[in-house]
Amino acid sequence: MTQSASGRLAGKTAVITGGAAGMGRATALAFAREGARVAIIDIQDEAGRETVDMIREAGGRGNFFHADVSKAAEVDGAFDAVAREMGSYDVLFNHAGTIIVKALHESTEEDYDRLMNINVRSAFLVCRRALPEMVANGGGSVVITASIASELGYALESLYCMTKGAVLQLARAISVEYREQGIRCNAVCPGFVKTAHGLREIAELDAAGQKWEEGDLAATQGRICEPEEVAAAVVFLASDEASFINGAAIYVDNGWYAKG
Ligand code: NAD
Repeated sequence: MTQSASGRLAGKTAVITGGAAGMGRATALAFAREGARVAIIDIQDEAGRETVDMIREAGGRGNFFHADVSKAAEVDGAFDAVAREMGSYDVLFNHAGTIIVKALHESTEEDYDRLMNINVRSAFLVCRRALPEMVANGGGSVVITASIASELGYALESLYCMTKGAVLQLARAISVEYREQGIRCNAVCPGFVKTAHGLREIAELDAAGQKWEEGDLAATQGRICEPEEVAAAVVFLASDEASFINGAAIYVDNGWYAKG
């Protein structure tokens, strides 16, 4: 990777939550390849610093900031540090999230709180903090990681589907509320992606009697998606090439959602 002075994100600074691993890491590397400076916010310090090392070894620029994005004080602390160390930013990729695979009737209030906090409260806290700063800087692009589960229902994923529906609606609402202030906001909706999250999800669903590995994956999206294939969509949405794309949900699922 060589940092590009003429890349699609040249001159821009991007903040990524959940950028230490998986799709967040793949997107951090892709952003840097396209010329952006990248601020990674994550709860995993070692993996986050490793992603920054990968960016720097390839000639790019990136910094790591620790925060549990479900906690307001930590979100504000990390964004304070981003402002101090990197200045203003033009792109926000709100990606951090997790999943619990469990029947609804077996789910506890702790499960509910955990998923709502990590998937939904975090998006609220991060966007609440970042939007005024981006507006003050002349606008920019926000991408929120939703899911095919934002629109389709899945057994053993009721709580997860509920949280992903919420963040898709957040993306749409932001696109309307902040359009006049120069903000575009879109959602990326992956199917199953080859990350710790996606592989654990498939394994837990199969352990509960489903047959994703054995056949359902082939029947729905054909194969598992590589994190880089999602990153490519996020780069496009983040870039000025997507200048008139606002409030969209981009499915990265090889036609699974279209199939229904
Ligand atoms: P991943 O587990 O590899 O990465 C998730 C990243 O988010 C990790 O770096 C993790 O440390 C970070 N994170 C988790 N909780 C955090 C918190 N409270 N504060 C800060 N950072 C936190 O998985 P991934 O698949 O790359 O990303 C998960 C995101 O992608 C979620 O939003 C999930 O809903 C979405 N998603 C995943 C898939 C899939 O199949 N992998 C499909 C659709 C949507």
